[in-house]
Order: sequence, then structure tokens, then C-alpha cells
Amino acid sequence: MPRGREPWTVLARRALPAMRAWRTQLHMEPELSLKEEKTREKILSALGELGIPYRTFDDFPGVVATIGTDRSGPVVALRADMDGLPVTEATGLPFASKFPGRMHACGHDVHMACLLGAAAILSKNPTGVAGPIRLLFQPAEEEGNLGGALPLIERGALEKPTVDYVVGQHVDPSLPLGTVGWRAGPLMAAADFFRITVRGRGGHAATPHQGPDAILIASEIVLGLQALVSRVRDPVDPAVVSVGSFHGGTRHNILPDEVVLEGTVRTLRPSTRDLMERSLKRRTRAIASSLGARVRIVYERGYPALQNHPAATRTVAEALSIELGRKNVVEVDHPLMGAEDFARYLERVPGTFLRLGVGVPDRPASLHSATFAPDERALVIGAATLAAAAEGLQRSPP
Ligand SMILES: [Zn+2]
Ligand SMILES: [Zn+2]
Repeated sequence: MPRGREPWTVLARRALPAMRAWRTQLHMEPELSLKEEKTREKILSALGELGIPYRTFDDFPGVVATIGTDRSGPVVALRADMDGLPVTEATGLPFASKFPGRMHACGHDVHMACLLGAAAILSKNPTGVAGPIRLLFQPAEEEGNLGGALPLIERGALEKPTVDYVVGQHVDPSLPLGTVGWRAGPLMAAADFFRITVRGRGGHAATPHQGPDAILIASEIVLGLQALVSRVRDPVDPAVVSVGSFHGGTRHNILPDEVVLEGTVRTLRPSTRDLMERSLKRRTRAIASSLGARVRIVYERGYPALQNHPAATRTVAEALSIELGRKNVVEVDHPLMGAEDFARYLERVPGTFLRLGVGVPDRPASLHSATFAPDERALVIGAATLAAAAEGLQRSPP
């Protein structure tokens, strides 16, 4: 760590009261994807207090801010997502969501408060920080299809000045509080959506021989798709096919004309992603036609797999080890099959996505649940992590 600067964790601890206040305000008024208007106002008021210039957009609630535009070193972008989820909060926290059916159940309030905390300490204590820092407040991470990262990139998030590295983080209840997880290479999966409409012939349930039975054929398809995972993809290359919704019929003794299945396909490698799409369509059509039904398939690609840049990731892990202590910086040993549109930045700029430990013994927690309440002590580690990562990358020119 450069001389003349206190550790980032010490500086972050000093910023904790402000981070706590920002987080509390954000948590109380969560907004769903692409509706983050009040959230943006809160961010703008915090950036105003910190004297950090920013850009906003008429048609999109994202915020792009820059610290140290006069500095000439590598440009590091730090990103936080902004949206809440359609969940009714049941944490009992004094600052719980004011709105039934809306909650920061994925910790994006924590991500925003950490980024503001990092901005506070990076703007006031530039010793060791060599270049500009770009702050990205990104809406609609949970949107799941287009997401908010692409629209933000299209609006110039990685330009003027050109961003050299990008860093993001996500709270993770499976890692202990006080730790940060990293992984070089793939960390999260590509997530694709499919809808299969099976057309049979409806009629009396007592005379199923009179036409293709859409319920039975859809069931065969659900089972048949599992063979893609067990027999089509390479067993050492992860993939998931899940049917999450199965709709058809109105009552017990009527066979419906139609059944609609919806599901998700998760993969890590682009070639496996192509293979699964092709095989899913082929297998579905084969099962349907062998049983005399017609089938319509909609297949949409969502977020790509998140690939952490190996060299940038190792640079960040090393900087974090010095900052947080080696035992608190843990290598995540396998990728997760969840998805994240942070992948869109990493398709364009080297960088890394980190896991911020919020796990506390005997307090089981899961993301997207109504009782998810990450420990706010993670704010200090989260802010220090972003600051240390930015500093480490700026000392390793691209
Ligand atoms: Zn989420
Ligand atoms: Zn999330």
C-alpha cells in the first residue's frame, strides 16, 4: 500500500455512517427494473454532497459519474446495480421496504451504498490512485433479458475517457462476512429463455385415443430435455435445463388443446450454448412429431456467461490480499449457474466480478428471499474492496 495513505478499510470505516444512511434510504424505497427514478435521485444527491460530476439520461434511469477527470493513468470503472425485486419484505428491519411487493432482496442497495462509499474515499484520498475512476449506477440487472448494462454501455458508460478496466461485486451469503471471493475465468452462466407450445387435440379425458394428448406429450418433452444435460453435453462442462412453468387444462376430465412450457438453459461456454439451443429444438420437435402433436418453440438468448479476465482478476486478488489479509480473500472454486449482466461489460473491457461475503453463522440467508438481510458490516469491506481493486488495477497498466 502506498505510503501516506491509511488502509482503505480504515477510510471506509470512517465513511460507514454515510454509507449506512444511504443504504437505509435506498432500502426503504426499492424500485423495480427500469423504474429506478427515486433511486437515481438519491444517488444524485449523494454524488452532489461528494462534489462528483455525473451524467444522466432522459430515457433511462442510469447514472455515469467520473472522479479525477484530470488524472492521466488507467481508467477503472466500478459498477453497482440499482433495482429491487417484486418480493414483499419480511425481515422486520426498522428500515424495511415501505412498499408491499417491492424489496431490495438481492442486496443491490448494499452495492449502491458500497459504490458511494468507495467514491467518497477515492475522491478525497487519491494517494496511490493514478487515473480517473468511472462510477456506473446501472438499472435493471434483474430484468433478465436485455438488462440495464447494454443500454448504459450504448449511452457511453465506457467512453470519454475510454475505460481500461471494470470491476463489480455482488453480496454472497455463502461466503462469510469479512471475506471477498474471486475467480479467474468463468464465474456465472449464460441464461437463455425458452417457451414451448404443444398443440394436441382436446376432448373428453375418457377418450384419450381420439387425438394427441398435449399434457402427456409436454410431459415427455420435459423428461426428454433432461437427456440433453445427461447425454448431449460433455459431463465436465456444466449445463442446466429447467422447466419452471407448465400450463395447460381447466379441469380433471377435459384434455386441453394446448400446453405451454417455459424454462431456462444455463451454460458456461459459447459452443455449449449453441449446442444446447440446437439440441433442445431438435429433441422437442422429434418428441412432438413422433406423438402426432405440433409444437412451436420460442428461444431467446439472455445474458452471456460472465468471464472474469484472468490477469486483471489476479491483480485485484493480490491487491485485496494486501488490503484485507490473505485469509479473507478466497478463491471461489467453481462457477455459479446464476446469471449477471455485468458479463456485458466484461465482453468489452477486461476486469473482474467479485463476491462480497455477507454470511453470518446460524443465520441462513438466500438471495431473492423475503427475509434476506445482509449484515451492514459488509459495507466497509465492500467499499474498501472497490477502492483497493481500482488502485491495484491502475498500478498495472493495460
Ligand atoms: Zn438478483
Ligand atoms: Zn443481484
